[in-house]
Amino acid sequence: MSNRREFLRNASIFTVGGLLTGRIGHAATKQPIVAEPQAKKKIGLQIYSLFRELDADIPGGLKKLAQYGYSTIELAGYAPDGKLHGVTLPEFKKMSDDAGLKIVSSHLNPPVREYTKENLQQIKDFWKTATDHHAAIGVPYLVQPGQPPTRSIEEAQFIGEVFTEAGKITKAGGISFGYHNHDGEFARVIAGGEGPLVGRRGAPNSQIIWDIYEKSTDPAYVLFELDVYWIIMGGQDPVDYLKRYPQRIKLLHIKDKEVLGESGILNFENIFKQAYKNGVIQDWFVELEGQKSRPTQFEGVKACADYLLKASFVK
Ligand code: MG
Repeated sequence: MSNRREFLRNASIFTVGGLLTGRIGHAATKQPIVAEPQAKKKIGLQIYSLFRELDADIPGGLKKLAQYGYSTIELAGYAPDGKLHGVTLPEFKKMSDDAGLKIVSSHLNPPVREYTKENLQQIKDFWKTATDHHAAIGVPYLVQPGQPPTRSIEEAQFIGEVFTEAGKITKAGGISFGYHNHDGEFARVIAGGEGPLVGRRGAPNSQIIWDIYEKSTDPAYVLFELDVYWIIMGGQDPVDYLKRYPQRIKLLHIKDKEVLGESGILNFENIFKQAYKNGVIQDWFVELEGQKSRPTQFEGVKACADYLLKASFVK
């Protein structure tokens, strides 16, 4: 049976909001609750989630994120002129610092569609410039979120080799290179193929593109950021991939169809459990793409933070 002290301790866990609004404040005044030190959860946001709304007031918007409970961000929208959301990277960093947000990563794609031997130098030049810009503000990760067309096993292998070249360039500037998936990476290709094959079984001797990228990249230079929603759209299980590639997946996109936990498609508890078990994932980012269930992107992003702050399985 709980004694009074235990009751109050438990009450403080479940009703911090209640205490603040005074609903059970009178109980607290009779016997002060000793706050137990509780580490703040490190919750990150991919700022693409706010692509329609952030520009109206970047400093104010970033401060809102900190109030919602976010402490890290992953950028999106970098252009080779060194700007993002219309401001320079150092200006954006200053605004993030002022809000108490740490920039951990940045999403960016080389300005080419196909990856070929002919445009390899252009791709390398892009990564060199991007590395210089991001190293100047101390960003630890650069992540490519766009998939070059991949029609065959050979093309997938070549793209993996280009990722390794990109990783060598970023690493020379002190930055880790990562690749982020959507659903297309879980289609299958065959040797000499002319296009990805969609469907569970594919064809004899077909391979999943993501698996070829994994095998064709040098782990010393390339990590993977697993988008746990898009892999499901590609017909694969995020927990299965976390188990199969425990050392290669070092970042996560925590994403649902819309607000986290509301579609019922994802088992976030199992995903977080496996991620902690792997032990190499230091950073993960909420991503909100659809938000029809909330009037604004900011409200959707806040609802995602609320879900994770409440979730006992998130450390
Ligand atoms: Mg994503």
